Amino acid sequence: MPELPEVETVRRGLSPAMEGRIIERAEIRRAGLRWPFPAGLADRLTGARVERLRRRSKYILIDLDTQETILIHLGMSGRMTVSGLTAAFVPGEFHHAHPQIEKHDHVVLHMAGDVRVTFNDPRRFGALDLIATHTADAHPLLAPLGPEPLGNLFSATYLHARLKGRKGPIKSLLLDQRIVSGLGNIYVCEALHRSGIHPERAGGRIGMARIELLTTIIREVLREAIEAGGSSLRDYRQADGELGYFQHNFRVYDREGAPCPTPACGGTIRRIVQGGRSSYFCPQCQR
Ligand code: ZN
Repeated sequence: MPELPEVETVRRGLSPAMEGRIIERAEIRRAGLRWPFPAGLADRLTGARVERLRRRSKYILIDLDTQETILIHLGMSGRMTVSGLTAAFVPGEFHHAHPQIEKHDHVVLHMAGDVRVTFNDPRRFGALDLIATHTADAHPLLAPLGPEPLGNLFSATYLHARLKGRKGPIKSLLLDQRIVSGLGNIYVCEALHRSGIHPERAGGRIGMARIELLTTIIREVLREAIEAGGSSLRDYRQADGELGYFQHNFRVYDREGAPCPTPACGGTIRRIVQGGRSSYFCPQCQR
């Protein structure tokens, strides 16, 4: 399941293919994904010019000059691919012929300049909506979201205030999208490990100094992953035009039984289940 850095990588990969270009034809190949597509979708997209791509949490927002915004969520298995004139914006030898349109290519945007953007989603948990740009923040999927972890509103003071008095485990509180939006299981495990905080520790029982460290490390972990995604955009692995999936080096995530990577720790990574999700941590250096 894509997390914030993967979605940001998709946004960055799509931007040069879409921004400033007109959608010449929108091919809508089924009635909906997780939810039905909005009425008249193809007509409303056709002829619209893309002004800019934004990201909010794990959603991609594509602002059009028609005062409407495409909202995309990749769900469990959604993928965006670009084909066509990629050589124009990706350094290196890229000559993508358009691939055959496949069964799970549900939305195909034929952009001006022979660029094609495809939303493929075999499991169909993804979402695509078209909403008025000025009310986008009030969309039912976006309205409840807490601050962006990389934004200015997410600070140690903010997080400390939100965790005050909370008895629930810090792991679950950080996954609560109302407290901070866009953090998922993988990067919460990684951030807690680097911060030396046990995933079962009650959120309200973490002192300000450690909250300061935690907020800094959350940003650091996300920025590193976004950086890795950025490198992958320039990498040959993106030659098939698929955006957003790249090689990670996780320290604890999915590494049960491996030695703890903290220097001189000597602990072994353990896995527990919290709120139905696996938590990976080192019982030696996370307290
Ligand atoms: Zn350790």
